[in-house]
Amino acid sequence: MSESLDPFKISQTQLREACNLKGIDNDIYDVLSEPERFVEVRITMKMDDGKIKSFKGFRSQYNSARGPMKGGIRWHPDESASLVKALSAWMTWKTACVDIPLGGAKGGIICNPKGMSNRELETLARSYIRQLADVIGPYTDVPAPDVYTNPQIMAWMMDEYEKIVRKHSPSIITGKPLALGGSAGRSIATAKGGIFTIREAAKDIGLDLTEATVAVQGYGNAGSWAAKILQDDFGCKIVAVSDSKGGIFNKDGIDPYKAANHKEKTRTVVGLEGTQKITNEELIELECDILVPAALENVITEKNAKDVNVKIVAELANGPTTPSADRILFNNDIVLIPDFLCNAGGVTVSYFEMVQGYYQYFWTEKEVFAALDRIMTNAYRSTIEHAKQYNTHNRMGAYMISIDRVIEAMRLRGWI
Ligand code: GLU
Repeated sequence: MSESLDPFKISQTQLREACNLKGIDNDIYDVLSEPERFVEVRITMKMDDGKIKSFKGFRSQYNSARGPMKGGIRWHPDESASLVKALSAWMTWKTACVDIPLGGAKGGIICNPKGMSNRELETLARSYIRQLADVIGPYTDVPAPDVYTNPQIMAWMMDEYEKIVRKHSPSIITGKPLALGGSAGRSIATAKGGIFTIREAAKDIGLDLTEATVAVQGYGNAGSWAAKILQDDFGCKIVAVSDSKGGIFNKDGIDPYKAANHKEKTRTVVGLEGTQKITNEELIELECDILVPAALENVITEKNAKDVNVKIVAELANGPTTPSADRILFNNDIVLIPDFLCNAGGVTVSYFEMVQGYYQYFWTEKEVFAALDRIMTNAYRSTIEHAKQYNTHNRMGAYMISIDRVIEAMRLRGWI
């Protein structure tokens, strides 16, 4: 039988495996395996052509034991309840793994924002917040950007919330523009945090980053910044990058800035001068030192995991590798930096943004990244130690640390 690619089932399988390794009771697994609250809303609005359209939206509030729940909002045609639930579970483990005082949540709307005007996007953003204003708040649940949402959308959402509560409330949402209380460094934080963990992994296996070759699957915010920072700060050579329309390859290196400009102009990296076209599938199997999946779920599965030919897989995306593929990568001695550790830089700087918003005093980018480095490096070290201690792969190492912390908070509150 082939493996399930249902994201929520995958997140439950991972949790079950971690609970088994730790000898955690079944009734505790049951509590941890579903969201505390799941809200589904219908957003009806007038489109520019005068037609009425309805969109389905979600907010999954997974666990609040460690603090206000936190997680982004995705706008994507393939959004689903299962995906939002899985992503909210991963947010819970993510904030626990890097040990910031937050719980986990996630939101989404099934829509195609690429085909919408600015006015339509703004209406959608404001309507979503009106539907959810009763269940979110700066001390209950704080949204943020994710796939196809951005600082402008966060600004509209913050403004709508503030109109409803009739006061300033900047920490209702993070990933805001700088001029409206955003944090320095937030826009590149996911990439930056991931790179701190890649630096540590490279140290561990004796990989000289100035000689390292890198393939980046997904050239959105996280992927393109990862490519630029890996080149600029460490001298890595970016040999392949891709997006939803396909990939490009050059064994002598691709200029990540030129790739980003080309994508800005033509909506894809494909066709950049001096590169050869490859598929996303070929990119995953490319022989190089570091593979960075930075797009969507389920790109490394039981079908292609044996063909992954790198030393480090650094998951900037959420959920790119299935449980069966995890075992194959582990058996092949590939160092996996699991998603909710590798991409935790985004939510960590979101947490800094909340803190700065609470007291209206702002830090420099240097201060933000120094604090981020400490948090990411500590989380990476604990994950590796935990995985070694239990002779398992790093995803399980990260899971075990995270669920221990969530369970402790729930016990202390008297919930379990
Ligand atoms: N959407 C990002 C994530 O998946 C950031 C979440 C946040 O900043 O709350 O981690």
